[in-house]
Amino acid sequence: MAAAHTEASGAPTTGAAGGSAAAAAAASSAAGSDAAPWGTAWDGKYVDGPDGWSAATLFGRSPSTGYTYDDIIFLPGHITFGTEEIDLSSRLTRNITLQTPLVSSPMDTVTESEMAVNMALQGGIGIIHYNCTMDEQAAFVRNVKRYENGFISDPMCLTPDQTVGDVLAIKAKFGFSGFPITVDGRIGSRLVGIVTNRDIDFREDHDTPLSEVMTTDLVVAQEGVSLAGANLILRESKKGKLPIVNENFELVALTSRTDLKKNRDFPLASKAGNKQLLCGAAVGTRPRDRDRAAMLIKEGVDVIVLDSSQGSSMYQLDMIKHLKSTYPDVDVIGGNVITRSQAHRLIGAGVDGLRVGMGVGSICTTQEVCACGRAQGSAVYWTAQAAMEYDIPIIADGGISNSGHIVKALAMGAGTVMMGSMLAGTEEAPGQYFFQDGVRLKKYRGMGSIEAMSKGSAKRYFSETQAVKVAQGVAGSVVDKGSLRRYIPYLRQGVKHGLQDIGARSVAHLNEMRVAGELRMELRSPAAQKEGGIHGLYSFSKG
Ligand code: GDP
Ligand code: GDP
Ligand code: 5GP
Repeated sequence: MAAAHTEASGAPTTGAAGGSAAAAAAASSAAGSDAAPWGTAWDGKYVDGPDGWSAATLFGRSPSTGYTYDDIIFLPGHITFGTEEIDLSSRLTRNITLQTPLVSSPMDTVTESEMAVNMALQGGIGIIHYNCTMDEQAAFVRNVKRYENGFISDPMCLTPDQTVGDVLAIKAKFGFSGFPITVDGRIGSRLVGIVTNRDIDFREDHDTPLSEVMTTDLVVAQEGVSLAGANLILRESKKGKLPIVNENFELVALTSRTDLKKNRDFPLASKAGNKQLLCGAAVGTRPRDRDRAAMLIKEGVDVIVLDSSQGSSMYQLDMIKHLKSTYPDVDVIGGNVITRSQAHRLIGAGVDGLRVGMGVGSICTTQEVCACGRAQGSAVYWTAQAAMEYDIPIIADGGISNSGHIVKALAMGAGTVMMGSMLAGTEEAPGQYFFQDGVRLKKYRGMGSIEAMSKGSAKRYFSETQAVKVAQGVAGSVVDKGSLRRYIPYLRQGVKHGLQDIGARSVAHLNEMRVAGELRMELRSPAAQKEGGIHGLYSFSKG
């Protein structure tokens, strides 16, 4: 058990029993439960035991009340390590571990390619929304998967007869300009040259055939070379691209210097074995969503998220069974759920992860409209209790508005945290900034808002075929948050400070502390919540 349990193990310092071994034993034996009131040892003398309550007591002893993040506050432990030692890695699903336990929500004002690329570069993951055609969603996934590579197994190739104009057109469309030239313009055919930016930079005549400009004096590596070996050749040859060929000089793959730099610059990046960035995508649970999922999986999506506000449905159970039997290697996250029985049903059908939250999103009106939902702290705690037995991680989805909420979600048992409003104001979110009252804003809307549903997202909220559309969300705006490249490191650091204050060296340790009753907490009265926020100032700035 955790050495950091300092409240119990290092307890007796004052009172009649101060320093006695008996008192220390009494304090530490009570660590896992709140059965005996703290402060009273077995012999009735005063013991300076841990303050506050365990999660089991806080949630279990007041079963008629749901609590959320702001209701709860943790009591600090003792700091014995620096924040740089804290490990934030945590599981998204049965098979996927992230270095940063943060996920961007599948909403059309939050996650398209740019968000997903940058979330993955920072160690998290983005889930691409599906309020678009299958082709559009597949293209978003493709962009993420192609962004970084070890070996590019299907590089875009051209023939010697194609022109400088063709290169420029492909560059404009896909963003890269290094092309192996093969006899018939395909991988698997004989490599005859390579064309990169420098070969075409000063060519005014776009009709010039590539045979006239391509480099034919090639540095290549043989098929079978390791990625580290290929990277060494790239570094030493100082070339931008390294084609990999077989014994007949036929092209089998390509490696790129840019990828070495990306790998160096983003050490936390979430990557698959082939070094491509991890990417998730959401789908619904209608029959035609099976085709959508098939298309996304063909593009290499790493995890499918079944998107439903009430995930415990026969539709979802069928979809989970279909996906897990057809694509056993692709992880499936089910949801949304908020109760243990909902969680059990989806786990029974085979999910690899659960998404938790109902009616707690910042843009959401489900609890008002449908009278269903649960305070998010309780939802996360209880579903995590159920899922833990099956080793299924959960995502705390919605209601996060600061790094403290992230700490609380992880401490209640979430493996990762999904955010919409926190990320919608970043540069990487879809849409343009605009000004209102002198403030720079971006649009953010619920996927169950009339505005989003009229673009197609009615599927999630069951009103697709209904004549009267009942909105379960609103459309609004959020303030500019700058780039994810600064924002995610800032959130990571905030979370690390939280773990350090608690005395947890890692997300896993935080969980162990909760289970052992070593994570101590209290409820906050409304006045205490007011006191814990900014108050009593005429004006303030967070800058
Ligand atoms: P290992 O865990 O030490 O085997 O290292 P990795 O499997 O992560 O990487 C093997 C080699 O590939 C090392 O030289 C890495 O620097 C390099 N590498 C890692 N990621 C990428 C990438 O995305 N692209 C390229 N080109 N190389 C990478
Ligand atoms: P270039 O030098 O203009 O080709 O482009 P970059 O220096 O930006 O590197 C290309 C980036 O795009 C690398 O991260 C590659 O992994 C990625 N990429 C993905 N697919 C392809 C492809 O088919 N060809 C090339 N050249 N790069 C690709
Ligand atoms: P936020 O991070 O903004 O508090 O919440 C984002 C989450 O709210 C999403 O991940 C999703 O689960 C949920 N959500 C998104 N749009 C809607 C909506 O229109 N209605 C409801 N009820 N929930 C929504």
